[in-house]
Amino acid sequence: MAGQDCIFCRIVAGQIPSTRVWENDRILAFLDIRPISDGHTLLIPKRHAGSLSECDASVLAEMIGVAGPLAKSVVEAAQAEGYNLLCNNGRAAGQLVDHVHFHIIPRRSDDGVLARWPHKEYPAGKAEEMAGKIRDHLAKS
Ligand code: 5GP
Ligand code: ZN
Repeated sequence: MAGQDCIFCRIVAGQIPSTRVWENDRILAFLDIRPISDGHTLLIPKRHAGSLSECDASVLAEMIGVAGPLAKSVVEAAQAEGYNLLCNNGRAAGQLVDHVHFHIIPRRSDDGVLARWPHKEYPAGKAEEMAGKIRDHLAKS
């Protein structure tokens, strides 16, 4: 799904208005239309990629390089205390737009947003079992 079917590709092409904050030939940053907090910014590659694992590694590396200074400016502009850098991948993880994007979400300690995740403990042996499975899949990739 790219081009006319992808809302972020249409934003890149200027077919849908957006509030741009930074761009170069490969990357665009613009404000989220339904912000979690003022200044909530989306950082995307201009070339369509559905998810993180489908995105060209050199563009991803450049996006991460941009994300740090961009997030610092977003936080300063929003007079926030910190930020979350999030990348939802897949419907189960909350991804609604299938064009890879990083959310930069300005945060304040009292904002009540994104409450603590429900962490749990591994039962004995489970962590090593999971790590082994991940290593097996990495070896096959
Ligand atoms: P996801 O849930 O896929 O990680 O996040 C998609 C984000 O894109 C949402 O936060 C949503 O508000 C934002 N969004 C969806 N459509 C548009 C749009 O047309 N313009 C802008 N600026 N943001 C959008
Ligand atoms: Zn796209």
